[in-house]
Amino acid sequence: MPLDAQRRAAPMTPRPLRLRVLLTLLVALSAAPSSGAAQQPRPRQAPARRRAAPAAAAAPATGSRIPAPRTLLGFEPGDDRKLADWPLLLRYYQALAKASDRVRYRELGRTTLGVPLIALTISSPPNLRQLDRYRQLNAKLADPRTVKRPQETEDALRRGKAIVLITSGIHSNEVGGHLSPTVLAYRLASDTSAATRAILDDVILLLVPSLNPDGVTIVTRWYNRTLGTPAEGTDPPELYHHYVGHDNNRDWYAFTQVETQLVVDSIHNVWHPQIVHDLHQQESDGSRLFLPPYLDPIEPNVDPLLVDGVNALGTAMAWELAGEGKTGIVINALYDAWTPARAYQHYHGGVRILSEAASANLASPIEVPFEQLATRARGFNPRERSWNFAHPWLGGRWTLRDILTYQVDGAYALLRNAARYKDRWLTNFLAVESHAVHGWRGWPYAYVIPREHPDSVGLATLLGILRRGQVELRTALHPIALGGQRYPAGSYVVVLRQPYAAFAKTLLEPQHYPDLRLYPAGPPLPPYDVTAHTLPLLMGVLAVPTRDSLKIGLSPPVEPTPASPGAAGLAGPAAPRVGLYRSYAGPLDEGWTRWVFDTWKVPYVSVVDSVVRAGKLADAFDVIVLPDQSPHELLDGLPRQYPPPYAGGLGPDGVQALRQFVTAGGTLVALNDASRFAVQQLLLPVRNVLEGVADDEFYAPGSIFRLELDAGDPIARGMPAQSIAWYESGPAFEILDTTAARVVARYPSDPTKVLLSGWVQHPERVAGRAALVVTKLGAGRVVLFGFRPQYRGQSIATYPLLFNSLQLTPR
Ligand SMILES: [Zn+2]
Repeated sequence: MPLDAQRRAAPMTPRPLRLRVLLTLLVALSAAPSSGAAQQPRPRQAPARRRAAPAAAAAPATGSRIPAPRTLLGFEPGDDRKLADWPLLLRYYQALAKASDRVRYRELGRTTLGVPLIALTISSPPNLRQLDRYRQLNAKLADPRTVKRPQETEDALRRGKAIVLITSGIHSNEVGGHLSPTVLAYRLASDTSAATRAILDDVILLLVPSLNPDGVTIVTRWYNRTLGTPAEGTDPPELYHHYVGHDNNRDWYAFTQVETQLVVDSIHNVWHPQIVHDLHQQESDGSRLFLPPYLDPIEPNVDPLLVDGVNALGTAMAWELAGEGKTGIVINALYDAWTPARAYQHYHGGVRILSEAASANLASPIEVPFEQLATRARGFNPRERSWNFAHPWLGGRWTLRDILTYQVDGAYALLRNAARYKDRWLTNFLAVESHAVHGWRGWPYAYVIPREHPDSVGLATLLGILRRGQVELRTALHPIALGGQRYPAGSYVVVLRQPYAAFAKTLLEPQHYPDLRLYPAGPPLPPYDVTAHTLPLLMGVLAVPTRDSLKIGLSPPVEPTPASPGAAGLAGPAAPRVGLYRSYAGPLDEGWTRWVFDTWKVPYVSVVDSVVRAGKLADAFDVIVLPDQSPHELLDGLPRQYPPPYAGGLGPDGVQALRQFVTAGGTLVALNDASRFAVQQLLLPVRNVLEGVADDEFYAPGSIFRLELDAGDPIARGMPAQSIAWYESGPAFEILDTTAARVVARYPSDPTKVLLSGWVQHPERVAGRAALVVTKLGAGRVVLFGFRPQYRGQSIATYPLLFNSLQLTPR
């Protein structure tokens, strides 16, 4: 479920917000009787039909010395209402590796909350004894420049193994992903069939049983605590990744989180897997399993051979699972392949195979009658047979065991394919890397990045991202003349003829998202995620493409200086006292804001509902920040089925307390959608010109806009007169009373100048409108952001606007 909304106001519909909006729209358009779109049916106590145990549980063991998961966990994975926390799962993987000569256990490092992040290496015992050799063979294919003689390539192709990475559990409320890896690992360790032996002989599997171990424990403990209560099956009242919750799988180019860094540094960049399989779960009322091909658009810098590989492998898996009698499998639906945020491997020679099994209520079974299946989903109808959904599921009981069966058997089908077509996978991998080393026609020769920048942290962060993505950086040995400009010697140069050139190009260039519609001339077809990822814009860095070879000497690859973020004026005794509102509904932006504050060393205190409602906020705080969250969720929070203190939001008492805080001289900073809350609840003298505007009248689903600033305003201190805004479904303002509000930043009045990267429909709706406003209220002020100034830890260019906003209260 790699969608934005980790959590929702209604926890019995724990499925993606954005998809729900789309589904609702589609349902409305289809005029078919609505099944409540992605409403998840309440679990009902239905007589359990006897289901086949997951294939792994039935697999013949080589002997009792290989411990089955149940021996350590105390239950069979897939049993209703049974989950295991991370320490228990770790004990299982350690025991398995100890007992099996097919399994090696490795700790990659520690998670955000300090527990082990691990990987298992699974292959035949002879392969495991020569891992270094196979890694070196694969490295030759990954960088054809290192090959001295053709014989080396032939050797690597003939003797090499298919490298497969399977990752699970990045979204911790998709609990099948906690347990499927135990079943898969046990099956590979114990099964003696010819198919398994072929896998072990020809594949080196790197299995990361959880990309977010912290979340395994957070969700498991919450689930166990709420079993048998009205809150059973709800998401926990906190982000299941300490900082970024559900956004943790949108971090595969920004690398902000330690878990992403560890997996990229110690697996992707060391092993260069040809195939990466990531296990997820989707909503309950669509297909039973999604597999690629993805929908358009596919990001244009992805090598065509990788697109073909994704299509072939996903389709082959679906075919194999169908042959085993599984129904309800859809391909080419729901998920596109535009953003690199979820697809590191697409720029590093590997295919990304996402699987999305239908969810139950965490580990609690549900009943999904056929007539409650969604009538429409993107790319198919779950109630109708179609070319990409050949055998509909007929509805009924859906359990954790079903999820595990689809996930584990899907992974097995993938491994069988990798073994059977090992030669093809390796040959194509080499071809992809050879394309990259020789360069693509029509691509720039290089990007030039001047060494001196006003924003040195932005520059260092951008260069650090490229380096972590294994992009080689060089420096110019002489000045460069380019497009009438002269860049001094020492400027960075990224030549786009290197193995991971596509990673650099994708992140350095502006995006031109295609104009996709639901039907010709109809409303926009929403992208699966956002549409822009241009790092130079987000980080305030100049990166200039050059068509031609530079004809000057370049240095060997260099290592840039690491970034050392810090915000001036926000630490020490004179620093403002910052309160950061922390809703139990766990909005992602709250976590990102915390991450930015922690990383940039901004002291703050998290403030929960009861603290706000109690009032007297001015005694403790100079400024309160409301992260991006919907007005409804801010006001009402989690529903009543949650136990105290989690149910309810700020409520009328919280609104009153915030009003008193501002009136008495405090500063309230509202980000993006929270600005609408502030305007509505505090009756501020501004109007959101986009309130109630339909998608076909204005649309920009995560794009980079141009921003014009009032350089004299204290909030714009240290900013250039022109900057960017990360625009994502936020408000745009019209001032109703100029004596009570001032504009700090606006979008350009020329509509053609609004968009810098991504997609916008009808930019004239926001052209000339205010994007950042300060309104007076009593002795205090409210700062209204119509965009996300610290978007996913990436929009460093606009951090000063947020940091300056924290310093407005006179002390
Ligand atoms: Zn997911």
